[in-house]
Amino acid sequence: MNGPIRRALMECFFPFQCGACEQWGAAPFCSDCEVMLEVPTPVVLPGYDFVMVRYAYGGPLMEAVQAFKFHGRFELGLPLGRRLAERWPVEKRPDVVIPMPSSIQGLRSRGYSPSRELARAFTFPVNTRAAGRQGQQSPQVGLSRALRSSNQMKAFRVDPIAVSGRVVLVVDDVVTTGATLESMGGALRAAGVRSCMAAVLARST
Ligand SMILES: [Zn+2]
Repeated sequence: MNGPIRRALMECFFPFQCGACEQWGAAPFCSDCEVMLEVPTPVVLPGYDFVMVRYAYGGPLMEAVQAFKFHGRFELGLPLGRRLAERWPVEKRPDVVIPMPSSIQGLRSRGYSPSRELARAFTFPVNTRAAGRQGQQSPQVGLSRALRSSNQMKAFRVDPIAVSGRVVLVVDDVVTTGATLESMGGALRAAGVRSCMAAVLARST
């Protein structure tokens, strides 16, 4: 049986497929891949009252994120988002969830925002219009951290009406240096948020 027909049949009988090894039956991970997921080291970011990172970026998690972000496995967004949402502490209740805005290039090449898909798994109100990218982003390589951060802050526009006086939860897929989240936090604070928290699917080191 050829690929597309087999795939359609499998999708019909087993609506889930592992994001890493593509085994049918469970998403985002099959039981084999599940046991290989790694716990991340904690992340503290200036300007955030609380940051939760779910996994270390490696092994099956990295494969699933790459499938989700770069290989068109759009349907992994919600199950991956659920992994994030199910660990979110119940006592921390944001007024609004804001997905990390995608870069223009990312949106153009993918046609969807990964963070927006992850954010759908949270039961809090999600606002996808409260923040966006703006302007041309100059290359960040070779700049000091302070300059990089001020450059990045200009990269975001935040609607003060949507966030002023509110507790905001930013949802993001992968954090590396944290510079992007930090500058998003800066833009949110400049727009008058009461408190800023972040939920990130994976930390890459
Ligand atoms: Zn698997």
